[in-house]
Amino acid sequence: MNTTFETLKEREGKVLCNTYGRYPLAVARAEGARLFDLEGRRYVDLLAGIAVANVGHSHPALTKVIAEQAEKLIHVSNLFYQEEQVVLAEKLLDTCHSDRVFFCNSGAEANEAAVKLARRYMQTVRKNDAYEVITLEGSFHGRTLGMIAATGQDKLKEGFAPIPEGFVTVPWNDLDALAAAISPKTAAVMVEMVQGEGGIRPMSEEYAQGLAALCKDKSVLLIVDEIQTGLCRTGSFWAFQRYGIEPDIFTSAKGLANGLPMGAMLATEEAAKGFTPGAHATTFGGGGVLAAVAAAVVDILQEEKLAERAAELGAYAMGLFTALQGEFPDVITEIREAGLMLGIELAFPAMDVWKQLLDKGFVLNVTQERVLRLVPPLTMPKSDLDDFAQALRETLAAL
Ligand SMILES: *Cc1c(COP(=O)(O)O)cnc(C)c1O
Repeated sequence: MNTTFETLKEREGKVLCNTYGRYPLAVARAEGARLFDLEGRRYVDLLAGIAVANVGHSHPALTKVIAEQAEKLIHVSNLFYQEEQVVLAEKLLDTCHSDRVFFCNSGAEANEAAVKLARRYMQTVRKNDAYEVITLEGSFHGRTLGMIAATGQDKLKEGFAPIPEGFVTVPWNDLDALAAAISPKTAAVMVEMVQGEGGIRPMSEEYAQGLAALCKDKSVLLIVDEIQTGLCRTGSFWAFQRYGIEPDIFTSAKGLANGLPMGAMLATEEAAKGFTPGAHATTFGGGGVLAAVAAAVVDILQEEKLAERAAELGAYAMGLFTALQGEFPDVITEIREAGLMLGIELAFPAMDVWKQLLDKGFVLNVTQERVLRLVPPLTMPKSDLDDFAQALRETLAAL
């Protein structure tokens, strides 16, 4: 293969829908916390495919499971019983308070399932006509029509009118506004414990407690979107566990099969009554290879104690970044951390700094224009954080 970056870029420009502003990097191979481009140049991966490769790229145990399961059974559809799904569901339910799982293929679909379940629970179990879902400003819940309606960022809705009804957005961290928005029409409140696309914004302890109490008080369902925060990333298996709250429904995806497309919606026994046979379905969801890989991911997360590791490395990174903020107080306006979800907010748009870090061999991304976002593999070497901090120091010093 002697494709060059330029020829690949030119060929792609003629054939793919123009939906992505790509980074100037073609990835040929990935391993652990390293990416390699077409020329074999090595990069430190602090993005993990956007919080996906939690146990690292090309984990040998997962490669083995993929190969073995591919020989045994890939797909038969959800018309059949498949042990792989049950094994995975049992493992996932062991990590939390929920009682039932629905498997699907992406984060957006997991959230769609959650909203459909909430509405159907209200309409068929409680027998009222509550349908509205309240979400928070700055949130991100996916790109289907339903989920751009749920997402609290107007720019994602541009050009897609009419936007589906039934979603209301309230300001972040304002319990009074939330209380005022809840009405007899409200079926659920849906939140992220840490807004990822929203710039790594952890919810305050006080708001989380108030939110859970309000939902209980007003008999509306609490849905937590754990698509980015779940699977040990923030220092506990699920982020809501650090807050001591128990949502009626929550969703997972991104890291679930460490890079294969998989989502899950988990619900309590009571909320799950909203789904009966035929109510909701998917062709691919929970297929053999996906389920077997995800089960192995759950094992690795637990065996390698990656929640503890995320907490420890997050605290370590905060130490490094706090020192940097001390050196560059006018440039770094805020640093935010929830385990290995790290945000460094600059006083100006961050793309130039981001580009220089990429040139130095560090892959990360920018959210909300001014925030450098790090969501590395939870298995990353600690020294990558030192190396990154030093590269950022050099970049900021040269501005
Ligand atoms: C990525 C993400 C989604 C959407 O997941 P897709 O798999 O891209 O559909 C939804 N919610 C949150 C919090 C996410 O980070």
